[in-house]
Amino acid sequence: NTFADIDLGDALNQNIRRCKYVKPTPVQRHAIPISLAGRDLMACAQTGSGKTAAFCFPIISGIMKMQDQSAQRPPRGARTVYPLALILSPTRELSMQIHEEAKKFSYQTGVKVVVAYGGAPIHQQLRELERGVDILVATPGRLVDLLERARVSLQMIKYLALDEADRMLDMGFEPQIRKIVEQMDMPRPGLRQTMLFSATFPKEIQRLASDFLATYIFLAV
Ligand code: AMP
Repeated sequence: NTFADIDLGDALNQNIRRCKYVKPTPVQRHAIPISLAGRDLMACAQTGSGKTAAFCFPIISGIMKMQDQSAQRPPRGARTVYPLALILSPTRELSMQIHEEAKKFSYQTGVKVVVAYGGAPIHQQLRELERGVDILVATPGRLVDLLERARVSLQMIKYLALDEADRMLDMGFEPQIRKIVEQMDMPRPGLRQTMLFSATFPKEIQRLASDFLATYIFLAV
């Protein structure tokens, strides 16, 4: 029952050792195998439960495998970028935190993580995106802006993680979130794998889960 027993790919397993993670936390122990098996997941998890790694590990591992199969993406150089995974989070602070962790986990994996949040000039973020992005960590408002500018396309999204979904709804982001997810469903429904994390599970979150997730596993730890 250690991370060494879970095959996430050599480079990622090595980064996990570097981070000194030995034993998975309860949410990780359950969420990671479910995600690796390709299932959608709704997890009730608090801050401090280790939820960031719980959604980052399967995403990074999955993208490493896609790279092995040299997944076809539209050519680089165009101004629009096509991330393979999207992590939505409510605030700039949480997005920055997820970005920092995800970068540590993806060190030398070839998986590129970029963050985009509101309340900061967009130009730096655009330049960063132009260098390529596999995993985009974003707040809903700034992502809608990027989509409207046609600088990001969600057509290739294979993994979607919604972090602190209840907080995003409390902050009034539901219209933006729905707009974002609609853009993923248009080209190829069923392509995407979705993980929804929330501290609470009120009706509004249940509705989001039934709208965005395929038949899913509910996890409360
Ligand atoms: P989170 O709930 O994702 O914000 O994580 C809370 C803290 O626990 C962070 O500082 C993580 O780096 C740390 N952490 C997460 N998973 C593990 C683990 N399996 N072993 C040790 N530390 C961990």
